[in-house]
Amino acid sequence: MKNLGMGMMRLPLLDENDFASVDYEQVNQMVDAYMDAGFNHFDTAYIYHEGVSEDAFKKCVVERYPRESFKIATKLPLFVITEESQLEPIFADQLKKCGVDYFDYYMLHNVSGFTEAAWKNVDLYSFIQKKKEEGFIKHIGISTHGNAEFLEEILFEHPELEFVLLQINYLDWEDDGIQSKKCLEIAKKYDKQVMIMEPYKGGFLADVPKEAEKLMKDYNPDRSVVSWAMRFVANLDACVVLTGASSLEQLENNIWEIKNADPLNDEELKIIEEVSEIINSNITVDCTKCRYCVDSCSEDIDIAKIFDLYNKEKILDDKTGWTQYGNAYLNYSKLPDVGIASDCIECELCIEECPQQINIPEVLKDVAEIFETEGYGFEN
Ligand code: SF4
Ligand code: SF4
Repeated sequence: MKNLGMGMMRLPLLDENDFASVDYEQVNQMVDAYMDAGFNHFDTAYIYHEGVSEDAFKKCVVERYPRESFKIATKLPLFVITEESQLEPIFADQLKKCGVDYFDYYMLHNVSGFTEAAWKNVDLYSFIQKKKEEGFIKHIGISTHGNAEFLEEILFEHPELEFVLLQINYLDWEDDGIQSKKCLEIAKKYDKQVMIMEPYKGGFLADVPKEAEKLMKDYNPDRSVVSWAMRFVANLDACVVLTGASSLEQLENNIWEIKNADPLNDEELKIIEEVSEIINSNITVDCTKCRYCVDSCSEDIDIAKIFDLYNKEKILDDKTGWTQYGNAYLNYSKLPDVGIASDCIECELCIEECPQQINIPEVLKDVAEIFETEGYGFEN
């Protein structure tokens, strides 16, 4: 059975509009269910949940379980690093926030085009190697959303890396931009351990268009839509599959799915291809809700939330006028201190942060056209 990793990127919240308001009580229940199921790999990062994810890990795992019973993976926030003097204080802060003496896995977070300022100007690789030699890290690696060619350059130049965390799911498998399949092949060529992130593509593959769901259900009415996504990744050559559950129920489903992830047969793989075609023709914006873009927005536009509503609205394709997603957008617009799509000033700062290379301000124009209408309670 593949190891399921508990990603701490989309934890349950007490206030859905405040990403720092982690619901610790529910996270405790999730951690208990996860450990009871026989798993032990937690994945966090300095920047997740506006800096609170590592604290949540300490509170819900470290303070409740013996150190030898779990493994922790976290990441150096390349997004904020411009000079070497920042490295030691951030690393020390991470150890303190996580409440541990060492990390089992430590990554450079999202080595790709938009973190170039960090990895080109600062010798990050020597830093993590040094921390490993000092005993503060067991295994060093990177996470990346870069393509296969970019990954190969890194692995060729840095044989000291032991593992890579890659975005892999059936929809991105042959995708030209993400290149999941090719990236996995490159990692294996360089003999690296692979950890898989985004097996459900930020929840997308749990909520596929009706036509795609029908194909899956017609073939096997007993398996859920997400089981196809889990079975696809669970049988690849990787050591961990990370899922970012947002509730105890989701986590329990993930546990069941990975424990029952028998390999897809040829007929099922064919259905996956057809499902991918249907989804691709329905997805409007390829957002995984990673939220890397959100902090860069001076207008406080919650881009990830807005794109989620927008995609769901498009898939629903409801012509009756009112939809739950339009309503949710209206509710969002009434919150204090948030920007809506039409507040975008097209500064383009967010584009640099987006691993999916989405032209965010362009999409926001369409979002405004769809949602900010009289039919949804906006005045023209
Ligand atoms: S382009 Fe628009 S959404 Fe992006 S950071 Fe600027 S104002 Fe925010
Ligand atoms: S727009 Fe891009 S950076 Fe922002 S949440 Fe979506 S995928 Fe992440």
